[in-house]
Amino acid sequence: MRLTSSPLLVGLSMAVIFAAFVMGTVYLTMLWATGRSDRAAILRQDRLVELAVSKMQDSVAHDQESATVWDDAVERVQAHDRDWIDANLGRWMHSYFGHDQAFVVGPDNELVYGFSIDQADEMKAYASVSQAAQKLIASLRKRLAADDKSGITDHTLSIGETDVFRINDRPAIVSAKPIIADTNGIKQLAGEEYIHIAVRYLDGYFATSLGEEYFFKDMRFSWSPVEKARLRSFPISSKSGSVIGYFSWQPFRPGNMALRATEPALTLGGIVILCAAIASVLALQRRARRLRESQTELLRLAHHDPLSGLPNRASFTAMVSRTLATSDATILFLDLDRFKQVNDTLGHAFGDRLICEVALRLSATAKSALMVARMGGDEFTMIVPGTDACEIERLAADLIGAIRQPFEIDGQPILVGLSIGIAFSAGSLFDGSDVLRRADIALYQAKANGRNRYVIFGTHMDELMKMRRELEYDLRSALKERRQLEVHYQPIFGAQEGQLIGVEALARWNHPTKGFIQPDVFIQIAEEAGLVAQLGEQVLSNALADAAKWPRLSLAVNASALELHDENYGRRVADIIERFAFDPTKLEIEITESALLQDEAACRSNIDMLRSRGVRFALDDFGTGFSSFGRLQKLDVDRIKIDRSFVSGCGTIGNNEAIVQAMISLAHGQGMRTTAEGIETDAQKNRLRELGCDALQGFLLSRPVVSERIDEIYRRTEKKASDGQVVVT
Ligand code: C2E
Ligand code: MG
Ligand code: MG
Repeated sequence: MRLTSSPLLVGLSMAVIFAAFVMGTVYLTMLWATGRSDRAAILRQDRLVELAVSKMQDSVAHDQESATVWDDAVERVQAHDRDWIDANLGRWMHSYFGHDQAFVVGPDNELVYGFSIDQADEMKAYASVSQAAQKLIASLRKRLAADDKSGITDHTLSIGETDVFRINDRPAIVSAKPIIADTNGIKQLAGEEYIHIAVRYLDGYFATSLGEEYFFKDMRFSWSPVEKARLRSFPISSKSGSVIGYFSWQPFRPGNMALRATEPALTLGGIVILCAAIASVLALQRRARRLRESQTELLRLAHHDPLSGLPNRASFTAMVSRTLATSDATILFLDLDRFKQVNDTLGHAFGDRLICEVALRLSATAKSALMVARMGGDEFTMIVPGTDACEIERLAADLIGAIRQPFEIDGQPILVGLSIGIAFSAGSLFDGSDVLRRADIALYQAKANGRNRYVIFGTHMDELMKMRRELEYDLRSALKERRQLEVHYQPIFGAQEGQLIGVEALARWNHPTKGFIQPDVFIQIAEEAGLVAQLGEQVLSNALADAAKWPRLSLAVNASALELHDENYGRRVADIIERFAFDPTKLEIEITESALLQDEAACRSNIDMLRSRGVRFALDDFGTGFSSFGRLQKLDVDRIKIDRSFVSGCGTIGNNEAIVQAMISLAHGQGMRTTAEGIETDAQKNRLRELGCDALQGFLLSRPVVSERIDEIYRRTEKKASDGQVVVT
């Protein structure tokens, strides 16, 4: 858990960091861009405020000109006509232009007239303005005296002086204009004109209207800059450069607005990027986990048998080397008996499941084993610590006992046996491969001894192996020389009349030094050495040559499953039949269930080809394979030979006659004939006759005999067809 979760946490943290980095970068970039545009916008707003104040200064001066450049005004101020002055240069200026104060001073700079919106007493009102006014007046008079006309245009009729001041603790524009004639009718002494002073406050109404006119939010005046974060303060300076006060407002920040507008989208984008990053981290994690799992699986497959899940040959040999390098141990080679039949008759899928079940039982029984492995097919191996013979024998017996218990696969009970070869290590005397080879030899011996048993390797077994190799060599040369292989014949009799109806050819090996060797021994060697086709050919040739003397008898010849699966088998048999000009209908080939049930095309076509020529087929040792009665119906044979194991119980109490009876009636139902093999007692003979078996064969009637003996019997039976009388050798 720790292993998988900590990389996940790291991955998720990385995803969050990645998303934060991307979003942070985007956000900072936007912030930088919007900041730039906001700064540009605020600078523009500063210029606008500056311009508005300057425009207001011009506008106040311009307002004054409407009444100060006028002949009447000159005359009236000179006459100190206060009513006229009040109506035209004072109160009127307030009501019409919104000026807050207006004053008229004479050539001696003495106040002639004063008006103020916040001070009734004109002297007092002027006192607060006089300092600023004097400054402007002095400068103006100087210019007037010098006849300075700069700034006079079509729109500006007179020169003037204006500046911003602090008046009555309020910021104000103060503008001075000379009262001059608009015609040339009235002459005044330059520099001694009456002067009109206009005052316009910049706070209050001006600030508000400025805000409204130029869309400055919360525009107000303050003496010092406002420190609030989102407020902008712009200084109002006099001509001399001294700061009078500040206009402050909430500046319009287009970038910031755009940023705010995009914030939801940005947040959403951030969430999407985060989700995508987390999703890709999770996907990467999953991929990495799958990769790890498949690597582990590959590693497991390299060391394990995929079917049973047990360690494989490579793991086992490595384990043996490792163990034997430091301690003594015992190696067991195990092989299932009759597994091939299960596989051949019930199919590979069935066989596979049996192997798995066997693997489970072996592992469960051999708890002390260091390793239980599958070498392939039906071969298993074990390595057990120590070399205590008693303990190992007990284990071997337990293993055999465990496997002998019927397996149940798909509701079908399966019986198999187990052969075990055992070899002990002996210190550093042998290496792993020696011990493995010895266990293998012991296994071979166990099988040769009749299977379903264990054999502990003894030094004599090396001898046995040598003998087997020699036998193989001898068989090869015997087949080559075509001398030592003989054929004996076991007579087969009609069950009802007891007359001789045929013979079964049984191979015999007359070894020059070892005497007669039984087919059970040399057929297996022939099969393993790839000599069975050659052997079958010789037996068939010999048998056909002999059988030519017994034209009335049918001839049964055994064929190995290996032969039948050779695609040339049918052709070869047909050639031999032709060569001996033998009547094919007299020939019956005995095959085993496994050969027939292996649904191989070659086997089928061999059978079909020979049957089309009249050759018959018999199913040998019927009942020992796995053919259910259901399958029997599909078999393409002419006869079944009921195995000796079923025949032996017939005629005695508590026997399995019912099965034999079923076999016979089923075979008859399918149009097949039946032969009972291995009749050894009269009771068996009689019972099988009663059960309706067609033919009988067994030691009671005759052992396999040489061909000359058949010649004799044949001659005798030719002479007297005896009723129920059988010929016993
Ligand atoms: P099989 O074809 O079932 O032949 C019958 C075997 O049962 C013969 O053993 C025979 O001697 C034995 N037998 C017959 N009656 C009795 C009886 O009453 N009691 C007992 N205990 N045994 C009886 P054999 O000759 O040793 O052959 C063994 C097997 O070897 C044969 O079984 C057959 O499968 C195989 N075989 C023999 N000759 C050939 C051959 O030329 N080619 C091939 N492929 N297999 C052969
Ligand atoms: Mg046979
Ligand atoms: Mg048989």
